[in-house]
Amino acid sequence: MSNPPSFSSGPSAAPSEAAGPVWHAASVADARQHLKASSPLSQADVDARLASYGPNQLPETRSAGPLRRLARQLNNFLIYVLLTAVVITAALGHWVDSGVILAVVVIQALVGFIQEGKAEQALSAIRHMLAPKARVVREDGQHQVDAAGLVPGDTVLLEPGDRVPADIRLEKCHNLKVEEAILTGESEAVDKAVEPVASDAALGDQVSMVFSGTMVATGTGRGVVVRTGANTEIGRISGLLATTASLKTPLLEQMDRFARVLSIIVILAGIGIFLGGLAFSGLAFRELFMAVVGLTVAAIPEGLPAILTITLAIGVRQMAKRQAVVRRMPVIETLGAVSVICSDKTGTLTRNEMMVTAVVAGGQRFDVTGEGYSFDGMICRDQQPVESSGLLAEMARATALCNDASLGEKDGRPVIHGDPMEAALKVFARKAEFDTESSSGDWPRIDEIPFDTRIRFMATLHHDHHGHEVAYLKGAPERILEMCTSEVAGDGGVVALDRQRWDDTVTEMASEGLRVLAIARKPMAEAGRQLVVEDLEQGGELLGVVGLLDPPRQEAIQAIEECHNAGIRVKMITGDHALTAGAIARKLGLRNSERVLTGKELDELNDDQLRELAGEVDVFARTSPEHKLRLVQALQALHGVVAMTGDGVNDAPALKRADVGIAMGVKGSEAAREASSVVLLDDNFASIAAAVREGRTVYTNLRKAIAFLLPVNGGESISLITALLLGLALPISALQILWVNMVSSVVLAMTLAFEPPEPGVMKQPPRPKEESLLQGFVVWRVVFVSFLFLAGIFGAWFWAMHRFNDMAVASTLAVNTLVAMEVFYLFAVRYLDTPSITLRGVLGTPVVLLAVAAVIGLQLLFTYTPWFQATFGTSALSLELLGFACAAGVTVLVLLEIETAIRQRLLATATAPG
Ligand code: ADP
Ligand code: MG
Repeated sequence: MSNPPSFSSGPSAAPSEAAGPVWHAASVADARQHLKASSPLSQADVDARLASYGPNQLPETRSAGPLRRLARQLNNFLIYVLLTAVVITAALGHWVDSGVILAVVVIQALVGFIQEGKAEQALSAIRHMLAPKARVVREDGQHQVDAAGLVPGDTVLLEPGDRVPADIRLEKCHNLKVEEAILTGESEAVDKAVEPVASDAALGDQVSMVFSGTMVATGTGRGVVVRTGANTEIGRISGLLATTASLKTPLLEQMDRFARVLSIIVILAGIGIFLGGLAFSGLAFRELFMAVVGLTVAAIPEGLPAILTITLAIGVRQMAKRQAVVRRMPVIETLGAVSVICSDKTGTLTRNEMMVTAVVAGGQRFDVTGEGYSFDGMICRDQQPVESSGLLAEMARATALCNDASLGEKDGRPVIHGDPMEAALKVFARKAEFDTESSSGDWPRIDEIPFDTRIRFMATLHHDHHGHEVAYLKGAPERILEMCTSEVAGDGGVVALDRQRWDDTVTEMASEGLRVLAIARKPMAEAGRQLVVEDLEQGGELLGVVGLLDPPRQEAIQAIEECHNAGIRVKMITGDHALTAGAIARKLGLRNSERVLTGKELDELNDDQLRELAGEVDVFARTSPEHKLRLVQALQALHGVVAMTGDGVNDAPALKRADVGIAMGVKGSEAAREASSVVLLDDNFASIAAAVREGRTVYTNLRKAIAFLLPVNGGESISLITALLLGLALPISALQILWVNMVSSVVLAMTLAFEPPEPGVMKQPPRPKEESLLQGFVVWRVVFVSFLFLAGIFGAWFWAMHRFNDMAVASTLAVNTLVAMEVFYLFAVRYLDTPSITLRGVLGTPVVLLAVAAVIGLQLLFTYTPWFQATFGTSALSLELLGFACAAGVTVLVLLEIETAIRQRLLATATAPG
C-alpha cells in the first residue's frame, strides 16, 4: 500500500494547469507518476486529495437571490393596481383604506415569495437526487460514486451513454467514440486512442484524452483523472453549470394567458366604469374609484398562481417519495393522461436478481441449486451432485472470464458489482469450483468485445502463459449458434454442431421462462492480439447453454393489474428470447401474452401494419432500441399517450419521442437520463404506476383549485357589476373583497394542494390527451357556482337591509354568507365526481377541518372585534343572521350534490351501450 502523497509541497500542490504536464502528450505512465497514482487510490488518499483539490463540480448558476425574488413578486398587474390605489387613497386622505391595501400588497408579495422559495427547495432537492455518477476503481475494487467525489489520480471506467465525469487521460479503450460537440462544436463522435499526441494538438485532436461533460457514444474505456471541477476544459469555458427545471407546465402557462386576458378586460372595464360613472351616475370620485379598485380585486384570482405552484411542488415531492424523480415539469400533467406504458423487462418487471438454474452441455442437462448470489449450491444431475471436471469446468471458466461483474461481501451478505446476469454467471462458476479471483490470473484478458444489445454477445480473448490463445463468447443462443460449426462433446472431443438439437433445448428452456445464454470458445491463432466481430463469425465451438431464472417482481404484478383497472395498457419490450418473454408475460398477467412480436417480424412490417399490431400485441421480444422508437410512433398514431422506459444510449431517441420518457436510475446511462423526463430511482415498474397515480392526483387537485377559486371571483365581480349597472350601493366594499380573497379564500384553497387521491383515481380511464382544464365541466362549474354566489351575496344583502336597514350590517352579512358558501363549496369541490356528503368527505383530511376552523375564527374577528369593524366597516351580526349565512352554505352544497347526481346519471346514459 502506498502512503497518501503529501500535498503540502511539490509540483502538484496547487491544482492549476501550470503544475501539470501536457497531459495529452504525456505517456500514461508519466501521467500516473506525476499524479502519484501508479495504483488505484486508497480511501484516505482520496479524502486527502478531495480536501486539496475540492469537489469535482462546476459552480452552479446561483438561483435568483432573495431580493430579486421579492422584486419579481411585485412585478404583476394586480400589484400595480393596488399600489396606485394606495397612492390615490392616501392622497385623498383615506388612511385606513391605503393602510389595508398596502398590507394586502405586502401579504401578497410575501406569500408569493415564500411559496416560490418552497418550490425552489423542492426542485433543488431533486437536482441532488439526480447527481451524476461515475464508475471508479479504487484500492478496494470497482465502485459507483458521485462524480463530485472524483479526484485527480482516480481510475475511471467509461461505457456507452456515460457523461465523462472529469478530464481523463485514457489508458485503455475499445472502439471508444466520444461526442464532444459541447466543447468543440464538432457533431461527429471522435475516435479515441491511448497513444500520446503532439503537445500542440488542438482540443478536438487530443484523442488520448476525454473531457468532462462530453458523452461516450460507443465503446468502452479506462483512464486516469487529470483535472477535476473548474480546472477541466468545460469548467474553463463556461465556469458555470446551467441548472434547468422551473415549475412551468402547460397548465400554468394556460393560466398565465388567462390572467393576462382577464387583466386587459378588467382594465378596459375599469376605465369604462370610471368614465361612465363620472359622466352619468353622479357618484363621488372616491366612491367610483374604490368601486373600480373593488372590481379589479374581485375579478383577479390573486391566490390562484400560488396555489397551483404549491400543488405542483407537492406533486413533485410526492413522486420523489415514490422513487420517481421529475426532470421536466410539464410531465407531471402528462403523467396523469398516460394510456400506454411500454416497459423494459429485465430489472423493471423482473427483479434482476438472477441465478443460473440449469446447464446443458455434452448432451446432458444439469440443475444448479442454491439461493440468490450466495455460493452455497451444487451442480446436480438427477438430484446427485456431480464432479465438475472436463466440459463443465471449461463452461465455468468461460462464464467467469467472459465477464465484467465482480462479487463481494458486505456484512456477511453477498453483494455484486456490475451486471446482475454476469454476477450470476460468476456465482455459477464458483459453484462449479472455478476460483474466479485467482484463476483469472492464469488466463489474462488480452482484448474484448463488450456486450452490445445490437450484436447480442460478448467475447474476450485470453492466453494461458503457454502460448495458447482462446476467445470465449457468451450471448443470445441464436447469435452464438450461428457462429459455431462444431460443439464440444461430453468427453471433451470436438464434433459437428447438432443445430436442431440445440434449438430444441433452447426452446424448451425458454418456455420455462428461463433466460438462455449460449457459451462458446474459439481457439485463436497466436498472432491475434485483437478481437473483431468479423473474425468470430465463423468456426466457434459451442460449449453449452445456461438457463437463468429472473423472477417477476411481486409488486410489478400488482401494479400491472392497477394499470389495467385504470384503463392503461402495459406493454413489455425486451431484448430477451420470445419464449422467455412470453412465459414471463404470463406470470406478470399482461393482457395479451400469447402473441409475441419479435424484432425481426417488426422489421418486416411497414408503418401501417405496425400500427395495426402495436395496439394488439403486448409482448415484444428480441428488440433493439430502434424498434422502441417505431413502437412509440405507432402507439402515438393510435392516439396513445405513451410512457416508455429505457436505459441505454440508443434508447435516447425513443425516450425523447415518448410523451413520458422514463429512465432507469440504477442501471440507466446518463444519456438515457438526460433524454427522459422522469428518472426512476429504483428501476421498479411499480414506481411508474405510482407516478401515474400521483400525476392524476395532481391534475385533479389543480382542477379543484381552479374550480374552487374562480367562482369566488366570478360571484364577486358579477355582484359589483350588477350593483353598478342597477345604480345600487355596492353589497361588498373593496376592502371587504380584499379580505375575502386574500384571507378566507387562500386559507381554504390551500388545503386542496394537500388533497389525497380520490378513491377512484385508478379506476377511471385516462383523461383524453387534448382535454383542456378551462373547458367543459370546469367552465360550467365556475359559471354555475358564480351565479349561486351572486344569488347568495344579493340575497343576504337585501334580506339584512329589509330587516335592519343598516348598510354595515347588510354588507357584513353578505361577506359572511359568501365565506360560508365558500366553506361548503370546498367540501363539494373535493369530490368532483362522487358524492361529497360522506363520512370520509367530511372528516377525510384533517387539514381541511383545521382550515375551516381557522376561517371561522377569522370571520368572528372580522365581524365582532372593534378594530376590524373600524377597518373594514363591518358590524356585529345577530345569531339569526349568522343562521342565514349557514343556510345559504348548506343550500349550495345540496344543490351541487344534486347537480353531481344528475351529471353522473347523464354520463352513465351517454356511455351506456346501445
Ligand atoms: P433485456 O431487455 O432482457 O435486458 P438485452 O437487450 O439487454 O435484453 O439483451 C438481449 C440478449 O442479449 C439477452 O437475452 C442475452 O441473450 C444477451 N445478453 C444480455 N446481456 C449480455 C451480456 N452481458 N453478455 C452476453 N450476452 C448478453
Ligand atoms: Mg439488458
